[in-house]
Amino acid sequence: MYPDTQLFIDGTWRAARGGRSIPVLNPATEEVIGQVAHATTDDLDEALEAAARGFATWKKVSAFDRSKLMRKAADIFRSRADAIAHMMTLEQGKPLAEARMEVMAGADVIDWFAEEARRAYGRVIPARAEGVYQLVVKEPVGPVAAFTPWNFPINQVVRKLSAALATGCSIIVKAPEETPASPAELIRAFADAGLPKGVANLVYGVPSEISEYLIPHPIIRKVTFTGSTPIGKMLSALAGQHMKRVTMELGGHAPAIVFDDADLELAAKTLAGAKFRNAGQVCVSPTRFLVQQKSYPEFVERFTAHAKGLKVGAGMDADTQMGPLAHERRVPWVEELVADARQRGAEVHTGGGRLGNKGYFYQPTVLTGVGKDARMMNEEPFGPVAMIAPFSDLDEVVDEANRLPFGLAAYAFTRSAKTANAVASRVESGMMTINHLGLALPEVPFGGMKDSGYGSEGGSEAIEAYLNTKFVSQAGL
Ligand code: NAD
Repeated sequence: MYPDTQLFIDGTWRAARGGRSIPVLNPATEEVIGQVAHATTDDLDEALEAAARGFATWKKVSAFDRSKLMRKAADIFRSRADAIAHMMTLEQGKPLAEARMEVMAGADVIDWFAEEARRAYGRVIPARAEGVYQLVVKEPVGPVAAFTPWNFPINQVVRKLSAALATGCSIIVKAPEETPASPAELIRAFADAGLPKGVANLVYGVPSEISEYLIPHPIIRKVTFTGSTPIGKMLSALAGQHMKRVTMELGGHAPAIVFDDADLELAAKTLAGAKFRNAGQVCVSPTRFLVQQKSYPEFVERFTAHAKGLKVGAGMDADTQMGPLAHERRVPWVEELVADARQRGAEVHTGGGRLGNKGYFYQPTVLTGVGKDARMMNEEPFGPVAMIAPFSDLDEVVDEANRLPFGLAAYAFTRSAKTANAVASRVESGMMTINHLGLALPEVPFGGMKDSGYGSEGGSEAIEAYLNTKFVSQAGL
């Protein structure tokens, strides 16, 4: 039902050199369901050498052929969607339908980057002298080290992997130990499509040991990480010391602003759907719900009704709408934040505690009266908790939206074009979606500003992040 996961180094699936492995748990039952190989530095050295050789091979493959192979991998991956979704739900906890959607969306990401592979154009700059050609040439940056988290086991890998392969880079992926099997299937689809050995390598182990070993290594030329802001800052600093390019996709604390002129029913339904998806363990999850005074009581009522109606359970059960938190570290974190808010006078409209005594389940929770000094108004909750607060006017709500150092996603609902333009230009966030959910498609930029990181994992910007720009000026003899 659930496979043990091996390392993939230099085109071979194998156990770790030291023979160690890490248990993998089902977060809905807390039972051990499998093992994942635990890499040692011997494995990392082999992966580095393989990535160096893989890069030498892959950068010479034409963009046309890279693109063809990627589209084949996408087809293989899509054809295995049911089995892979099953693995993902067992290891991560999300409902099976969400897991399947993630696999299918992953295949679309590969397809999109495969198309972009053929469009990594340079340019010709008009010269000052006759017979001189000034060329701007794009070249792959080199072997990439990628670190990805457990909340979207496929999605967080596929954007990095596809952008790297599209541009001609090789890659070592350090995928999440909590959810190892589904990202391994992504790598398998590429291997089965005929990716030359060494081009994509996959390791697991102790995250800090692996990042501290790979990032400074001279073979690695680019670092990409998705995870929390404190870890992102640490890895950026390390990369900076060794002059490595980085893309950092870090934490958020998204404001969701609902104005009095909004379609309230649409806003409550859409935002509640976004809030409780993947049990709130989403970097772009709306967290601070800011609702204009007149609409505030009705919004709280509608939103709470939605939260109360959610069916929470094991992701494998067909009627489950929200699964457990993904691992045992998440539960005390959410519990502490909620306890802190209550202590400071927050009112609980629904939820507010663990569910059951087996599995990492936490109730969909709605709080009001959470003061700005409460931890959860300042730290990323990364759980199924919504804080709703009233505001009076545009200036006040923009100040609150921009109060935190995060700047990843923001949401707004209004029928006024003037208000929509004002929030779009004044809220400090890398992404803003108004009157609907419109983030995270492969063809649009995906990334943050301020403490939420830099660089983009979507759109043509994502390709650019894996390319060096070389200038060639050539005069005829
Ligand atoms: P964490 O900060 O320990 O780990 C977050 C991720 O970073 C994990 O995948 C982990 O393996 C990795 N990581 C940790 N230390 C690392 C290191 N030194 N080198 C390389 N990778 C390292 O916390 P956690 O409990 O796993 O997750 C909690 C927090 O992480 C959340 O509150 C959220 O802020 C953040 N997170 C963000 C995303 C996202 O999509 N941006 C995804 C998962 C977690």
